[in-house]
Amino acid sequence: MTSSSQAHTGQTPAPSAEAEALHRALFTLDSHIDIPWPDRGDAFEDTDARRVDLPKMQKGGMSAGCFVAYIAQAKVDAEGHAQAQAQCLAMLDVINSMQGSQNGVTARVCSTVVEIEAAYKAGVMAVIPAVENGYAMGDDPAVLAQFRAKGARYVTLTHNGHNALADAAVHRPSLGDKPENHGGLSALGREAVRHMNRLGLLIDVSHASKKTMLQAVAASAVPVVASHSCVRTLCDHPRNLDDEQLDALKASGGVIQITAMPAFLKPRDGEAPRSAGVADFVDHIDYVVRRIGVEHVGISSDFDGGGALADWQNATQGVNLTAELLRRGYDRSEIAAFWGGNFMRLLGQAEAVAEQTGTIG
Ligand SMILES: [Zn+2]
Repeated sequence: MTSSSQAHTGQTPAPSAEAEALHRALFTLDSHIDIPWPDRGDAFEDTDARRVDLPKMQKGGMSAGCFVAYIAQAKVDAEGHAQAQAQCLAMLDVINSMQGSQNGVTARVCSTVVEIEAAYKAGVMAVIPAVENGYAMGDDPAVLAQFRAKGARYVTLTHNGHNALADAAVHRPSLGDKPENHGGLSALGREAVRHMNRLGLLIDVSHASKKTMLQAVAASAVPVVASHSCVRTLCDHPRNLDDEQLDALKASGGVIQITAMPAFLKPRDGEAPRSAGVADFVDHIDYVVRRIGVEHVGISSDFDGGGALADWQNATQGVNLTAELLRRGYDRSEIAAFWGGNFMRLLGQAEAVAEQTGTIG
């Protein structure tokens, strides 16, 4: 973290033996990975069609991944809600099928810290289900319990476009969105936050508008996560978090998981095609560390949902990130915090609050 390299246009050096060894020794969690839909039943195959499959995770020394049931925003009406709920439950079923042993690879679906740690100790990769877009619960917070019952550990409040819960950072006039529909969280959104707290579901503020994010921080009894977001000061995208949002995250104990989406990492340079690498990614980690501290930042790829860097193309190449973190002067405990320690702390906090309040039936 000593130097922020301004010019990283050159080739990424091969990771050192030290970086390789450290990467293999760490618990490494990627907090946001999409699955193909419709499902092709290929999670246990090393296929060119996916940036993340279980063989690539194993090859790349990855310990755990949050796999999301992503529901595209559509019309906020009864028909749209019914379709979204059904698709989300079907996608969670597919994510739950990503376990067992095939092709020399073993994985286990895990939905608690204890289960994730046990899988890690056993040398088994952990698949952690999650839901991207609160639209999937429609207007019925009771559906959140069904997501939790299928192992989900976070729900992203919105995607692009407002839903019944909240305003998104990016509105969709084609779906009838005004710049703001609710002024942040709706009454239903606040009810959903309470349910999520009681169920042990983290509130994910990636994609949410600034007002939604700040209101969610205040409303939630558990620190919130941005499961795949970057820093607005470094790249002025409406989906990124500005300094006021980072400060609110710090005050509440939350975490921003920087993500491998070039459009969120680097401003466009004229007409040149946009490309970014792990050095750009680590610039965002450096910024968050300097502003709010090591314990508030982590790592996500958004692989198979649009994420990819020149030198982090798929789940086999996470070592390049570890190598860059070492080059910047981070030590083992700091790198471990980025690669999953901070995110696991939030999962534990969500579980503690859920136990105190009791699960909604
Ligand atoms: Zn997303």
